[in-house]
Amino acid sequence: MVSLDQQTDLTRLFDLLSSVVDPEIPVLSLQDLGVLRDISVTDDVIEVTITPTYAGCPAMNTMQADIENKLAEAGYQQVTVRQSLSPAWTTDWMSENGREKLRRYGIAPPATSACGQQKSTIECPQCGSAEVKRISEFGSTACKALYQCKDCLEPFDYFKCI
Ligand SMILES: [Zn+2]
Repeated sequence: MVSLDQQTDLTRLFDLLSSVVDPEIPVLSLQDLGVLRDISVTDDVIEVTITPTYAGCPAMNTMQADIENKLAEAGYQQVTVRQSLSPAWTTDWMSENGREKLRRYGIAPPATSACGQQKSTIECPQCGSAEVKRISEFGSTACKALYQCKDCLEPFDYFKCI
């Protein structure tokens, strides 16, 4: 077991966890998603706070296990992963970097702040066209909806705005 030095370890812990990704969208790290909220160290126990993208998201258990495994590999044994449900996660927490990664991955990123008007801001991740139509409320996972571009005709997932 390693002994913890607050400052250096926090930086290292954040670095370590930056390689933990969303099991459903492996190009996005928990930091990109805004799911990783906080890391604190008290009496050699590391507490990692995460906020699920939505309550009961099945991916959260995988994320939690991935966090514990990643830290255990680095020698950190005393780890508590806490799920914080309030304030609730919103797609606004997703970083700019994360949105760009999503687009390159072929998923339309959630519209920023203007969730009420998301229809006008969804763009095809392939060609950038805003001429899109919704095919299904649910895409490959419950977090996404299936859309199709009217210009290039490519179907794509849209990460739903919450
Ligand atoms: Zn298109």
